[in-house]
Parts: sequence; C-alpha cells; structure tokens
Amino acid sequence: MTNPNKTVLAIVAHPDDAEISCAGTLALLKDKGWTVVMATMTPGDCGSTVHTREEISKIRKQEAADAAALLDAEYYCLECDDVFVMYDKQTIVKAIELIRKTKPSVVITMSPSCYMVDHEMTSKIIQTACFSAGIVNIETPGVEPYFYTPHLYYVDAMEGKDRFGEAVKPGMIIDISSKIDLKEEMLAKHASQRDWLREHHGMDEYIIAMRGFGEKRGKEISVAYGEGYRQHLGHAYPQNNILQEELGELVHERS
Ligand SMILES: [Zn+2]
Repeated sequence: MTNPNKTVLAIVAHPDDAEISCAGTLALLKDKGWTVVMATMTPGDCGSTVHTREEISKIRKQEAADAAALLDAEYYCLECDDVFVMYDKQTIVKAIELIRKTKPSVVITMSPSCYMVDHEMTSKIIQTACFSAGIVNIETPGVEPYFYTPHLYYVDAMEGKDRFGEAVKPGMIIDISSKIDLKEEMLAKHASQRDWLREHHGMDEYIIAMRGFGEKRGKEISVAYGEGYRQHLGHAYPQNNILQEELGELVHERS
C-alpha cells in the first residue's frame, strides 16, 4: 500500500534525544519535500538540579519547539514523566492519538535496546502505536483511526551499545555530513542541558559527544558524519526501505 503523505514523525523519549540521534536525517527528508513532526514522551521534567519540575518542563518544551522550528516542524509532548515512561494503556492511547492526528508514512523512534529504560519503553510503545492506529475499537474521541502502518525505524542506541556494553549494529547508516552543522544548531537550542553539562565536564560535552558519535558512524561508511538506523521488519510492517528510496546513495545498508 502506498501512502501519499510525505510526513515523518520522530517520536523520542526526552527533549534532545532526536537532536542527538536523528536530526540530520530529518533535515535531509525536509530537503526532499517531507513534512517533519517532532515529539517527545516527556517534557524532560527531571533535567535540572535547580528548577522545579514545572519550571524545567516549560523551559525544555520551549527548547524542543525552538529546535523543531529549524526544520519548520511542529512539536508535540505526550506529557509522560521522566523515568516513568510506562508501557500502559493510557500512554499507548496517547501515542496512537498522535499518530492518527499527524498521519506519518515514516516513524522514527528510540532503539529497542538502550541504556535507559525510558528509551526502551518508548520504542515498544511506538511499535504498538504504529501497528494499532487503525484499530477502530481503540477510541480516541475526536480523532479518526489511521488505516496505514508506517515504515518504522529505530535510531542508534546511545553510544551504539546495549546494557551489556555490546555493540548494537545499525542495519543502515545515513550520510548526514551536509546537515551536521544544522544538527548542532538544533542540539544547541537545548541550552538548559548544554549549560549543565558544560559546567559539570568543564567542556562542551553535549555538542562534542554528538559530533563524536556521528563521526564514528561516518567513518564506518567513509564519510564525515553518519546516523545509524534499524528498520522494523516484523509482521504487517512495510518491508521496503523507504529511506533509501528517498535519500538514495546517502543511505548505506550494512550486511
Ligand atoms: Zn533520552
């Protein structure tokens, strides 16, 4: 089944996860005429030692919206709590509602295997939400079911490794060299996190780590900067690699 909507939804756990992982690919898709939608499960309410949850949530949602604006993207927050992203009915229904509202043909989310359980739960929640958006008996008042299963992609695990320190190998690496500066500009919008890390590490760890990991993935395909992905190829999901079809030789499949 084809979907005429050239809409990509990046839905990640926390504000800044997308800017660290998939912002380069989102920027490439935008250049190809795609509409980009960005969302987080939480407002990042635990990301401060000085602000209350309410204060830091407000600050970080604004930072996320400012970063999204660089791709002319709308930003949504599902208002879960940091550390408590639950695989439960309420959360899955919220995710289904967002998919029904935004009608993406491509969804990008967290790695199923990562260092933080919020990331892993987000991955599972979104897998279920993509599959279930067309089930009419799951009610989202005012928002119609969406009878299409989007292509689903998982970003790299943080630092490319699982909880045992084992490498999580991407199925493909996308050459984002032309978008690394824009990616950095997006990440830099998250000043509340950057400043804290800068103080803590005595250097601009936030940006350095993002660029460093991008460089590592880039080296694997002999380009300056890369982003790794795995495609969800389970039952009922589209099997073709639409990112490769859209981005051509920038996408390097790994065997
Ligand atoms: Zn995160």
